[in-house]
Amino acid sequence: RISIDTPIIMMTVDDADEVDIAAAEAGAVDFLLKSELNPRLLERAVRYAVNLGATLRQLRAAALRDELSGLLNRRELQNLLQNEWLRAVRFKRPFSLGLADIDSFKRVNDTYGHPVGDQVIRHVGQVLETTLRRLDRVARFGGEEFAILMPETGRREAAIAMERVRAALAQSPCVVTGQDLRIPVTLSIGVAVPLEDANTPDALVAVADRRLYAAKNAGRDTVRVEN
Ligand code: GH3
Ligand code: MG
Ligand code: MG
Repeated sequence: RISIDTPIIMMTVDDADEVDIAAAEAGAVDFLLKSELNPRLLERAVRYAVNLGATLRQLRAAALRDELSGLLNRRELQNLLQNEWLRAVRFKRPFSLGLADIDSFKRVNDTYGHPVGDQVIRHVGQVLETTLRRLDRVARFGGEEFAILMPETGRREAAIAMERVRAALAQSPCVVTGQDLRIPVTLSIGVAVPLEDANTPDALVAVADRRLYAAKNAGRDTVRVEN
């Protein structure tokens, strides 16, 4: 089964159901019979196929993203991590995984309400995306947790990048639109690298998570890249 962006309309003289079904299974979006064809029908079929193609592209793009923050979602991050793992092991290249969690976020929700909490999550996402390299991938991994995939980045460079994020966020409070509020936000971050830290992608996530909690225990607003 091919997967291409150009919608395909099948035209045939054979009106057997099997032909219709086979065309649909092969990826055709519509099936026209030559004997029934006329300009209006053809124009409508083409217009419909083009619109459907555009809608499918939008749906595919949306399926990768988290609605609240616009960042990649957890599923897409897991896919990228699998690919990055295979690439890194195959070509003996480094990469790093960072996991970040907003410090004392319950207090933000309790003090200012859930919608303001949502704005803080968006703000953190923006700071992450603007502070990191374009090749780095940022995902919303859970409620107020983020994952950062850094290709071609070893432990020392990842430490520098994550420290840059930590410092940037510590210096840019979340300005709440419509209210006279500047909410200070900090992150705790754990980093893990293959193969020194873990032998599978899942184990890598677990090690980064463990270091994230070590960063919490060390007082928060902290980056931890080794045990
Ligand atoms: P810690 O420093 O230990 O991380 O403290 P914390 O208060 O951040 O603790 P924890 O990580 O357990 O709390 C996460 C809170 O995030 C709990 C949950 O109500 C809130 N939360 C999760 N998802 C969302 C969301 O989409 N929007 C808002 N506003 N809050 C969320
Ligand atoms: Mg959390
Ligand atoms: Mg938290």
